Amino acid sequence: MAPVPTAGVDFRDLLRSGQFSDLTVVCRGIEFKLHKVIACLQSPVFLAAVNSDFQEGRTGVIKIDQFDPETVRRLVEFLYTGDYGRQPQEPQPVQEQTQGTVLHVRVNAIADYYGVKALGHLATQKIKQAFQDKWDPQTFMITAKEALGASGDKTLHDAMARIAAENMTDLVGCPELTDLVGDFAAEIMRHQGKKHADLVAMHLHAELGTARVVARFRKIIEEINQREYCRNAACAEASFGCNIEQVDNPVGEPTYILRCSYCRCRH
Ligand SMILES: [Zn+2]
Repeated sequence: MAPVPTAGVDFRDLLRSGQFSDLTVVCRGIEFKLHKVIACLQSPVFLAAVNSDFQEGRTGVIKIDQFDPETVRRLVEFLYTGDYGRQPQEPQPVQEQTQGTVLHVRVNAIADYYGVKALGHLATQKIKQAFQDKWDPQTFMITAKEALGASGDKTLHDAMARIAAENMTDLVGCPELTDLVGDFAAEIMRHQGKKHADLVAMHLHAELGTARVVARFRKIIEEINQREYCRNAACAEASFGCNIEQVDNPVGEPTYILRCSYCRCRH
């Protein structure tokens, strides 16, 4: 959240009414009535623009053409509320998540452009949360492409790289991977992904084997503790004496057999 001081004033009212507005932002014909004290305290770029001798400084009008009006509206909402996407008039995207994460990338890009660090951080958090809530490799590819192309924010790029690394096994199967990172890097990722999958499988196999050995030994210990005599009626031994035979298995863990040390029968 951006530290917007409120002092009993709801800045959303100022934004809605445009009262005392002394700064206008125009994006593709749509006007946003802002206040220098709010906008310039949070954006060094707005501050420099209104203090300049250029047109913006003289007229109090800043034109934004490189972003779409919806993204500008989210920037403005953040400047006045410390968050975005909470306004009731927010349109519901058709393909909720695809558009959702791409919209956050655009917010991150405008925050990067105008130096509103807290907003860039918030947008990145929203992207991370969206992929945590619902992982989808196709959506990730579209979002990552937008992130690398539209935003210069290294923190966002780093977050996208981390998400990619965590979901490598899924991503190496996507044909769009080459498009995103290039032929050579995609090949490296595919080999790495295969190696990783093999390691995981080996690890899982070893863990299951260990679990079987542990379970078998628990049963053997239980058997030794409870048994007083050999189960073989013909066995002449007065008390139960036993040993454990190890049978090696070339493709897995050894098996263990509990035997009476006198008649050699299995228990
Ligand atoms: Zn016996």
